[in-house]
Amino acid sequence: MQTFDFIVTGAGLAGSSIAYQLVKRGYTVLRVTSSARPASMAAYGILNPIHIRNVQLTWKASEIYPQAVLFYQELKSVLKINFFKETEIYHLLGSKDEAVYWRQQAETGMLGNFCTGDVENISGMLMNATHGCIKITGALYVDIPFMLQHLHQWLAENKSPLLVLEAEEQKWSYHASNVQMNEYEARFVIHCEGVAATNHPLWKNIPFRPCKGEVLTLQFNAPIPHVIVHKKIFLIPLSDGTCKAGSTYVWDDLTSTPTPEGAAEILQNVKQITRSSFIVKEHVAGVRPAVADRRPVVGLHPTVSSAAILNGYGSKGLILNPFACNALLEHLLNKTPVPVEIDVHRFNKRLQQ
Ligand SMILES: Cc1cc2nc3c(=O)[nH]c(=O)nc-3n(C[C@H](O)[C@H](O)[C@H](O)COP(=O)(O)OP(=O)(O)OC[C@H]3O[C@@H](n4cnc5c(N)ncnc54)[C@H](O)[C@@H]3O)c2cc1C
Repeated sequence: MQTFDFIVTGAGLAGSSIAYQLVKRGYTVLRVTSSARPASMAAYGILNPIHIRNVQLTWKASEIYPQAVLFYQELKSVLKINFFKETEIYHLLGSKDEAVYWRQQAETGMLGNFCTGDVENISGMLMNATHGCIKITGALYVDIPFMLQHLHQWLAENKSPLLVLEAEEQKWSYHASNVQMNEYEARFVIHCEGVAATNHPLWKNIPFRPCKGEVLTLQFNAPIPHVIVHKKIFLIPLSDGTCKAGSTYVWDDLTSTPTPEGAAEILQNVKQITRSSFIVKEHVAGVRPAVADRRPVVGLHPTVSSAAILNGYGSKGLILNPFACNALLEHLLNKTPVPVEIDVHRFNKRLQQ
């Protein structure tokens, strides 16, 4: 048996971030992943402190947004790569009434310091912006694949090996004070398997509500807006001159396969934003690991004390991840209770069935 302090399963945003936090603190970590494509590789990479559809701050933004910014700044300096930038988002208004609502929400403090509620004009960028737009500040654009590529490299250099094993190749045995997988053992395993948790023997009774999303990369034939634009979908200009466009929300197809219907829906929305012509360069899909109550699931299994979960990021992985990682670290290392809203123990009844 080869012994580690922790085994972390899953190498997406959750698994890679918690592995980083543990290795940074001097713990030994074995990472195990499968060939399943992570949702993290499909994400278009916006960290937005405002929930645009609800016209209010995203959940717990005043607490979790600063933690998130600090985390990605720290990673940027540790990995020595420029994988994110602070950015503005321009939300194209659909009507005068919508403009009034944004103003009211801003005046009553529902948008924090991230939006004044003023209607702005970004004409000259081929926009269909008849009613003007609302500017959101303080958002981040994060190139998640680039960040993960370098994070994996950093973890490997810091003695955290990564095994690629499918679920059926992993033989787990859980005990009160340790856990074993094949020829490896550890004090704890942290399961960060994204949507695959819906089939996991320990976690499958959590009320997951996974949601598929698709994203296109477009090459425009005319100048594109140099800012992120939102109207039903996001249009995100990239440094190579292309744009990402997405995403869709589908609950009845949970494959990571791009579909013609997904592409058609995105393209229809792109045409609501710009009249410029374009070609499609790439089309990807992923499944968001969401939970019915839209909160992460964090903590130890109620009956298997060597197994923890870090999951349920849904469509807000970037902003939730540093907060959820910190909560789990504090719980495992210092026995601090996990905040109730994200504590896996809210599903104890189901998990004990
Ligand atoms: C189209 C789309 C766009 C998105 N855009 C954004 C965005 O702009 N901003 C944002 O904040 N969030 C966005 N999200 C959500 C975000 O991507 C997710 O919340 C986040 O990536 C989830 O990370 P995760 O590590 O929990 O899961 P994943 O990234 O899915 O990682 C799960 C990992 O577990 C591994 N695994 C699976 N089974 C096993 C097993 N049996 N053993 C070991 N490993 C296993 C997989 O191979 C994978 O490495 C988007 C999601 C999608 C699909």
